[in-house]
Amino acid sequence: MNSRKTFAAIDLEAYRYNLRYLTSKACPAKVMAVVKADGYGHGAVQLARVAQEEGVEYLAVAFLEEGLRLREAGIKIPILVLNYVEPSSFEAAFENNLTLTIVSHEQLKAIEASMKSGTAMNSAFHIVVDTGMRRLGLEWRESLNLLKASIDIGLNVEGAYTHFATADEKGSGFVAEQLKAFLSFLNQAERITKKTLLKHISNSAGIMYIDNSYFDYVRAGIASYGLQPSSQRDENLRPVLQWKTCISFVKKIYPGYGVGYGQTFVADREMTVATIPVGYADGYNRHLSNRGFVIISGRRCPVLGRVCMDQFVVDVTHLDHSPKVGDEVVLIGSQGNESISAEEMAEWNGTINYEVTCAISSRVPRLYMKGENI
Ligand SMILES: *Cc1c(COP(=O)(O)O)cnc(C)c1O
Repeated sequence: MNSRKTFAAIDLEAYRYNLRYLTSKACPAKVMAVVKADGYGHGAVQLARVAQEEGVEYLAVAFLEEGLRLREAGIKIPILVLNYVEPSSFEAAFENNLTLTIVSHEQLKAIEASMKSGTAMNSAFHIVVDTGMRRLGLEWRESLNLLKASIDIGLNVEGAYTHFATADEKGSGFVAEQLKAFLSFLNQAERITKKTLLKHISNSAGIMYIDNSYFDYVRAGIASYGLQPSSQRDENLRPVLQWKTCISFVKKIYPGYGVGYGQTFVADREMTVATIPVGYADGYNRHLSNRGFVIISGRRCPVLGRVCMDQFVVDVTHLDHSPKVGDEVVLIGSQGNESISAEEMAEWNGTINYEVTCAISSRVPRLYMKGENI
């Protein structure tokens, strides 16, 4: 049931297309599909299935539970957990064949303690090297010691990675510095492991701007969703998500009439306004109050007054024929010759495209489609 015609339409063919495009761009490095945060709001299980079908060989998630969900859904390919996992949960990672990230000596001790059960011996690990993000991992020289300690206790350290802080700035000098530090680490790392490591460094912006041929993987998140990883647009990317709803009410207002909480919009003329049954509880950001636009009848209609929890009001005075309850409203996507991208909405919100799609809440049903029009 969808009683308010509100949904996020997820085009699995567009996702497939983006994966292929990024694969060709990163080649010979392979794409590790990053599906954390429920695939940036798109639905991790459905996208992971497509990625697996497409021959993607590695997935990445932020947290353990995200990996467990994919395993429960029958995803078989390796899954790297990028972020913090509490020691009492290590066992669940080992049992479900999730690849944990090694970040510190303290964590390594905890892994060693939980290895007594034996399962950790069979598990793969990647070590993360801090080359500038300052979030997780040790600096490269100390990381060599951490790697050695991991090998000494018998861990299967299968890979090593670091993460760019400024890859979205084309020609960034800091990217070159981070790359240099990581290569210094790698230069000695394989002497310690006595086998080759799966090496990866690039996020989406890194796929666009740096040569990844030395690396085994690139970690593609945002670009795989067809969203721009930097301000330099790549027109090959196809947005995977559209967000639509309908008009729930139409009325006329007159000079002096205020709209919504705080009456922050006041009409100075006779206007026709339409109510939209979506609010900040759906992830339609309150910063869009008096700032955002929607598309109705192929025309942009500005948001009037404050966005409420479950609804907001737009101006439809300028439309050629009077809109009716039930008419389609596009929040993100296209209608006629108009379109609103996640990037544009992010600008209105004062944020980035990543946050826009991640924020679309579970109250908005996801509708999965394969290329067909909606
Ligand atoms: C989220 C994340 C990515 C993906 O970044 P995008 O910019 O979305 O491509 C890659 N690597 C790590 C470590 C991440 O946390």
